[in-house]
Amino acid sequence: MKQFQYSRPATQQAVIDAINKPGAKIIAGGTNLVDLMKRGVTAPDKLIDINHLPLKNIAPVKGGLHIGALALNSVVSENKLVVAQQPLLSMALKAGASPQLRNMATVGGNILQRTRCAYFYDTTMPCNKREPGSGCGAIGGYNRMHAIFGASDKCIAVHPSDMCVALVALDATLIVQSKKGTRRIPFADFHRLPGEHPDLDNNLAAGELILGVEIPDNNFAKNSYYLKIRDRQSYAFALVSVAAALELEGNTIKNARLAMGGVAHKPWRLVEAEKALIGKPVSAETFNIAAQIAIQGAKTYGGNDFKLKLAPATITEALKHASGLV
Ligand code: SF4
Repeated sequence: MKQFQYSRPATQQAVIDAINKPGAKIIAGGTNLVDLMKRGVTAPDKLIDINHLPLKNIAPVKGGLHIGALALNSVVSENKLVVAQQPLLSMALKAGASPQLRNMATVGGNILQRTRCAYFYDTTMPCNKREPGSGCGAIGGYNRMHAIFGASDKCIAVHPSDMCVALVALDATLIVQSKKGTRRIPFADFHRLPGEHPDLDNNLAAGELILGVEIPDNNFAKNSYYLKIRDRQSYAFALVSVAAALELEGNTIKNARLAMGGVAHKPWRLVEAEKALIGKPVSAETFNIAAQIAIQGAKTYGGNDFKLKLAPATITEALKHASGLV
């Protein structure tokens, strides 16, 4: 591992000053960054430790719930307000990683974690995300875990987070700060598709610090479900995951939210499938129709062909659980 400097600036303002310097990188839980450094994928000159900043709060704000960027994944998943008001988020967090990792990983780090594409971590292999212009080992290679939506001929990686799938379904907003002030970014607009620049995962500008996320109030608490399909029951990334949230009026769907993980370079919101659910009765047929709409436009790469069947089946099953059909 390349040698690096370490500092712990005393204040939020001092952190923002420090991250504006070239070669500086923020470290919080370090559950992804340290792996990347050990493997030589990332080699910062200076690590800026932010663990002491007062960004761990989970509290109601006008019209919603604020969760600080340094709140631990384990703490958020068990928080009473989150469990009562946003159970979809709690379920998604509990589906992620392992208890030990959730005890170290922060909300901000979860959002910024990088793909787990094996070629990205293997510095002997081509990877446009790690080294732009070098090629993509996964296209024509091992791509069982890879994207079926929104990929490009430069990169077919997926975003690995479970938490982010729930946050995009819940219309969260990200709050960031830089020398220019504070800005709010709709969660759906934060992560990027690979396009011509798979090296860019998201739209966080240089020198910006994530302060937290806000989730607007909703009526989904009674009918939410996060279903993650993976190779083993714990400590595995999603082959496909689905965040489903419904607001029911009797047997009719008044409002719906759906998003998928393990299928795209960003948490994948299913707006057209949501529209197909609203106003319809709760039934397996309704859910099957929405699932077929959700899968339209999918493209596979050989190793991940099975996702064409797995994705709609997971959507239907998640909706059945959310609605109480099963
Ligand atoms: Fe790299 Fe993306 Fe290709 Fe994986 S899919 S090898 S991350 S360019």
